[in-house]
Amino acid sequence: MNSITEQRIALISVHGDPAVEIGKEEAGGQNVYVRQVGEALAKLGWEVEMFTRKVSAEQQTIVQHSPNCRTIRLEAGAVEFVPRDNLFGYLPEFIDNFLQFQQENGFVYPLVHTNYWLSSWVGMQLKEIQGSKQVHTYHSLGAVKYNTIDTIPLIASTRLAIEKQVLETAERIVATSPQEKEHMRSLVSTKGNIDIIPCGTDITQFGCMDRQAARAQLGIDPEAKLVMYIGRFDPRKGIETLVRAVGESQFRESGKLQLMIGGGSRPGHSDGIERDRIENIVAELGMSDFTTFPGRISQEKLPYYYAAADVCVVPSHYEPFGLVAIEAMASKTPVIASDVGGLQFTVVPEETGLLAPPQDVGAFATAIDRILSSPQWRDELGQAARKRVETKFSWEGVASELAQLYTRLLQGKYEETQQQSSEDTQKKVLLVS
Ligand code: UDP
Repeated sequence: MNSITEQRIALISVHGDPAVEIGKEEAGGQNVYVRQVGEALAKLGWEVEMFTRKVSAEQQTIVQHSPNCRTIRLEAGAVEFVPRDNLFGYLPEFIDNFLQFQQENGFVYPLVHTNYWLSSWVGMQLKEIQGSKQVHTYHSLGAVKYNTIDTIPLIASTRLAIEKQVLETAERIVATSPQEKEHMRSLVSTKGNIDIIPCGTDITQFGCMDRQAARAQLGIDPEAKLVMYIGRFDPRKGIETLVRAVGESQFRESGKLQLMIGGGSRPGHSDGIERDRIENIVAELGMSDFTTFPGRISQEKLPYYYAAADVCVVPSHYEPFGLVAIEAMASKTPVIASDVGGLQFTVVPEETGLLAPPQDVGAFATAIDRILSSPQWRDELGQAARKRVETKFSWEGVASELAQLYTRLLQGKYEETQQQSSEDTQKKVLLVS
């Protein structure tokens, strides 16, 4: 990297605001990813601006996270929350305001890293308008998602077309797991350049305390058999499978079993319907006396919760990566996850946790009981899980891989390689002929 301009990057995340509280409504893994990548890149010397859509008049327009890293909220449509499936029509205004921001500040981003399909469209327009290079992370693939839900939204065909176009035209696509790359290839397009760079987690924040210390802090019985879920309340997260599985546990009558379902916002928000549905199932199954709903847990408190648990369950129907799994693993807590997507990459069955077919209540129940039955095995799995995260999934490591990718793009290295290989091909053709 030679000049300041070469170290400037815009992370665009239209609907996933990196500066908001995580774990509520639509805020989840994408928000965490953008924020953590942004902050870690800034530590490596990059000038990072993270662009998102302003959703309320009370929100600050610019949030400075660290000297070289800030969130910039641009207006696009009414300044209010709009579900992501209804945002597409507001993107031209987002782009106008992005261009205006650049103009006012006297620079043009040579490279943008876009997140989710909405932002990918923004990136493709910026490429046309001003030649910005584009790196894209999907976070979710329409082609996969629409296979797992009953009601396909009106925006589906637009999304699928855009997801194909960006794969074929972005300078680089970042897949967060080999499984996600495979899905891109088999379901979206065989064209385009894909690199695998995983998501990361904060390995100093998670894993900094042992189980009993965490339980003492949270007021949890030291003898409890604690099964934990952390995440959004969304039917595709499979919380129902977990509840039913815990209901079948052999420890149910032991008086020691506890189920904690963390995450979600206050009643009246968009995720409230799923939360009510899950609470009703808990009540119907007679599990209310050993099930708690602590609500949204802040990033500062999360390390206690993960550390306190005997096992963390990620029962999603599908998960392109699944940050919760590596957060629990970094906290030395084994993970039982659905045998899907990125969870097949992060969780190594029988080594760092267990995998079960999605929505298979019996398989989850068996897996939970296997780990709860053997504290020694639980600890061995937890140690191996921690080691796996340390070697593969720290944000510093992820950011430095991304930084190398950006640098190569900005220095035109990929074009050189491509040109070189096409020259080689021409030479070969000449030799053959
Ligand atoms: N999260 C949180 N507090 C909560 C619930 C969730 O901070 O109460 C965070 C969690 O730690 C993780 C993210 O939200 O970093 C969820 O990311 P994941 O990839 O697991 O799922 P997504 O929400 O993207 O589907």
